[in-house]
Amino acid sequence: MIRKGEKFYLIAGPCAIESEKQLFETVSKIYQNIDYLRAGAYKPRTSPDSFQGLKEEGLKILAKVAKNFNLLTVTEVLDTKDVQLVSSYTDILQIGARNMQNYALLKEVGKIKKPVLLKRGLAATVGEWLSAAEYILSGGNKEVILCERGIRTFSQETRFTLDLAGAVKAAQKSSLPVIIDPSHATGEKDLIESMTLAAKAAGLDGAMIEVHYQPEKAKCDGKQSLTPREFNELYEKL
Ligand code: PEP
Ligand code: MN
Repeated sequence: MIRKGEKFYLIAGPCAIESEKQLFETVSKIYQNIDYLRAGAYKPRTSPDSFQGLKEEGLKILAKVAKNFNLLTVTEVLDTKDVQLVSSYTDILQIGARNMQNYALLKEVGKIKKPVLLKRGLAATVGEWLSAAEYILSGGNKEVILCERGIRTFSQETRFTLDLAGAVKAAQKSSLPVIIDPSHATGEKDLIESMTLAAKAAGLDGAMIEVHYQPEKAKCDGKQSLTPREFNELYEKL
């Protein structure tokens, strides 16, 4: 479990599970430096024509590769009807930014016995984010991890705007661990290292980072994915 104030946790892996080879090749180079493996089997994509994930086949690959390297996993659930299935394959369930206010889904994951990583909505205030967490907590699930993944602002320089102060504010206002996702927040691999170091300096609890063994061939979010070598260099700096 990810505990507040314990250490700086690293969750890493590709945006999406594309194949067993892709996941295996990526994880085999970083497994020693990560606390959790992340990889999506159900992908919330802006366009319906984009790769939507391998679904249950992806979950099976995730569980197999994680077992091989003795790792715990984080993966996203998009739909209430998939909560039991996803929770049977993973250690932590992720609620993505687009679903932060999907109250039916929040209530459903409030009933399970596995931790939930709750991303901040693209346009959610810190108060709304903490209220969304309350839905899960009041359902009886006390293991919620908050993840700041960038919000929409007028700034066009980066994909979203990492609200580091907002993340610290969330950490001050609640007893939950708070991590950042510098990959989605910035959309650029060259900004991941500095934002991760900043989050650690700010006293936050960890970072979730996209890593792909061949970012240029990734089916999604290659531009914001580190190579395993770059990730391991960041690990050393931390
Ligand atoms: C993800 O982490 O794979 C993801 C889709 O993130 P977000 O919900 O923050 O966009
Ligand atoms: Mn992604």
